[in-house]
Amino acid sequence: MKQNATVWLPYAQMQTIHTPFEVSATKGSKLILKDGRLLVDGIASWWTSVHGYNHPHIINALREQSEHLNHVMLGGLIHEQATTLATRLTRLLPDSLDYVFYSESGSVAVEVAMKMALQYWINKDQQQKQHFVYFENGYHGDTFFTMSVSDPQDGLHPPFSHLLPKQSLQKIPRNEQELAVFEQWLSQHHASLAGMIIEPLVQGAGGMKMVDASALSALISVCQKYDLLVIVDEIFTGFGRTGTLFAIDQINVVPDIICLSKALSAGALPLAATIANKKIFDAFLGNDFNKALMHGTTFMGNALACACANASLDLFEQEPRLAQVADIEGVLKKELMPLQEVAGVKEVRIKGAIGAVQLAYHLAEDLNWFKQSFIEQGVWCRPFGDIVYTTPALNISLDELLQITTAMVKLIKIWSIERFHK
Ligand code: PMP
Repeated sequence: MKQNATVWLPYAQMQTIHTPFEVSATKGSKLILKDGRLLVDGIASWWTSVHGYNHPHIINALREQSEHLNHVMLGGLIHEQATTLATRLTRLLPDSLDYVFYSESGSVAVEVAMKMALQYWINKDQQQKQHFVYFENGYHGDTFFTMSVSDPQDGLHPPFSHLLPKQSLQKIPRNEQELAVFEQWLSQHHASLAGMIIEPLVQGAGGMKMVDASALSALISVCQKYDLLVIVDEIFTGFGRTGTLFAIDQINVVPDIICLSKALSAGALPLAATIANKKIFDAFLGNDFNKALMHGTTFMGNALACACANASLDLFEQEPRLAQVADIEGVLKKELMPLQEVAGVKEVRIKGAIGAVQLAYHLAEDLNWFKQSFIEQGVWCRPFGDIVYTTPALNISLDELLQITTAMVKLIKIWSIERFHK
């Protein structure tokens, strides 16, 4: 008779990992642990549960949908939740982004985007355009192609670096001078480049690094000038996180492909979408079957997940989410910005419902102290690298938000005294 199996956990050295905390229920912005402790969730389950957990509107949509259609394959079939969601998403996006391809995870959504970009050029008889420009601190997933466009410094992918397709790693140009240098480089290399990929405004897993809207617009324009297909990965930034529904709402250029996931289905079920413009879609049309996009995942466009996503869009319409994000941003600025004066704090970065404190060095063995101490403060936060951050639900209460920021300030100050005043 086998004893309990081991659940192999993500991003963990299973030999030394601390026993994970068992969650028995979730409610609003709280995790309820099996031992009865309540934790205010500062991460919203990797940025997904934008309306808090178990929002009644999401639960009702899920319950209703589960009674008549859970899932059908999209091979030759379609259902109302998928078509309604596609229509609603494209109405919220710039005009040309109208062609919605579903999948179940962010990594696969990016894989699909990269496949679309590569095959676009294959279909146009320009096979030599087969590499991507990507950026320092960028992160786009853990599958092989997405690893190839994630910053090799991220510490996640080193064992595979020799196996990954070669792409072009660049610094994000942040001013005119840097843009001119980038353009000069692009003018020499664009012939072999299929496209570029970037997380717009905020690079999440790469350390909550930010770039302003004007620099991002200028970068995208230059790439499009040299005929690169521009993929924006809004898997982290989408659905209110940066203050607007999409980060690209803050720029004045339109990418060719956008990837959505995480908060798309409000954190209830896995869902992702890769949305392309007409230029790309049209390049796959024709009598030749080889021109078609040969990709499909079993659970793509799952009806339950699409129902959650449609219900989530209702909530963005019916509840003042973006105003709540503006309020969160105000609180984060007021509470966290003073940390800039604390020894050992390198930078405090706030954007929308993202508050990140970058410390002087990678936390290494201090990570466990931080995680444990957050729990003692009744807060779930999971610092990584040199970053202590929060990305709460967008409708978190002021009291709960203050509980998170108070814990961040207190622990960073204790850490600073321990490390810098002895
Ligand atoms: N892109 C970005 C910007 C992400 O933040 C993530 C996940 N953290 C991914 C892609 C990959 O998504 P998934 O984990 O759903 O595969």
